[in-house]
Amino acid sequence: MAIIGKLFVNSLKMLVVPLVLISLICGVCGIGDIRLLGRIGTKTFLIYMMTTALAIATAIGLGSLFGIGKGMDIATEAAFEAKSAPPLLDVFSNIIPSNPISAMANGDMLSIIFFAILIGISILMVGKPAKGLVQSLELINEVIMNLAPYGVFALLTKAMAELGLDLIWSLLGYVAVLVGSLAFHFFITMMIVLKLFSGLSVRTFLAKMREVQIFAFSTSSSNATIPITLRTVTKRMGVNNSVASFTVPFGATINMDGTAIMQGTATIFIANIYGIDLGVTEYLTVILMSVLASVGTAGVPGVGLIMLSMVFAQVGLPIEGIGLILGVDRILDMLRTAVNVGGDAAVTAIVAKSEDKMDVAIYNDPDAGTKDVFDGHIDKDSKREFSEVFSDGLMGSEYDDVDRRK
Ligand code: ASP
Repeated sequence: MAIIGKLFVNSLKMLVVPLVLISLICGVCGIGDIRLLGRIGTKTFLIYMMTTALAIATAIGLGSLFGIGKGMDIATEAAFEAKSAPPLLDVFSNIIPSNPISAMANGDMLSIIFFAILIGISILMVGKPAKGLVQSLELINEVIMNLAPYGVFALLTKAMAELGLDLIWSLLGYVAVLVGSLAFHFFITMMIVLKLFSGLSVRTFLAKMREVQIFAFSTSSSNATIPITLRTVTKRMGVNNSVASFTVPFGATINMDGTAIMQGTATIFIANIYGIDLGVTEYLTVILMSVLASVGTAGVPGVGLIMLSMVFAQVGLPIEGIGLILGVDRILDMLRTAVNVGGDAAVTAIVAKSEDKMDVAIYNDPDAGTKDVFDGHIDKDSKREFSEVFSDGLMGSEYDDVDRRK
């Protein structure tokens, strides 16, 4: 088991750099046509990022408060030393890699991220001809994910053999704090943000979101949920399609509050398990990296956890820690996806209301749009609504994805 686990950890490490590079390029490409970004786009982007940062802060706060994973002190096999954080000035001046290949060879996350964002923007500027390239990159992401389960089994068995039931108790603490943070963020933080910025009824929002969240929960995929989120915000909440057709797919691609919460909680948990102390600089780094990692996470099952390797690499935590939490990730993925789409819809409502692109009468009518609830069938209309913005721009690949899955 130790050998198989080690092989898995090595393959995970092997994937970190290509995965971060590729996923972030895909994340940036999710913006679609960059010229359409404009004022609404910028506003949406900023609110998405702000709520994601709030989400991580909640996770870190609760994780530290409950001290999840403390007292385990697993020694890492690889001689591991927490990197001392480099001076801030160096961090900034080294962000632009003078040699991207050497940045990748050294695993300089920030430089790789910068490079990825730059390539993503360039692909957007090339436009349609680059679509094939982006689809190939998305496929590579999927291929990588298929390797995961075998290694997880071995890693968990080995850890259990060494630590026995203590590990299970510790993992239960992780799950409990994570679920608590997800609930806190969605039901408290996001609802305060919704009320504060839009004045809309929180109760109505929650009632109308139920169906979307159940769908997200059962598919664990923000992408697959796009049609039903879109339908709910337009038909049931009265958001004008011109706003929703941009903000919903955009959010499903880059806005992942639930995923970010998992990454924050997991960082605290794994640091404690290995007895590594994180300082203020590390916490700030975790916030920044988790925001970026959630942008890079594709809205399909399980990717968030693999993107966690990017956070770990930058903070200096052992990547093999991911193997320990992978075993409980399936159900957590379902929950965090429900929070992810909840955030997309809340921000959509806020932006639409502030832009006067919302029919508040529809929002307040409890029965609005109930006749054409989503029945799993993607009709031509909703497809057109979406592709107006995206296929004319660059991507539209989320829809191909949905079709393929169907
Ligand atoms: N499953 C999540 C989503 O689609 C992404 C993740 O965190 O793995 O939103």
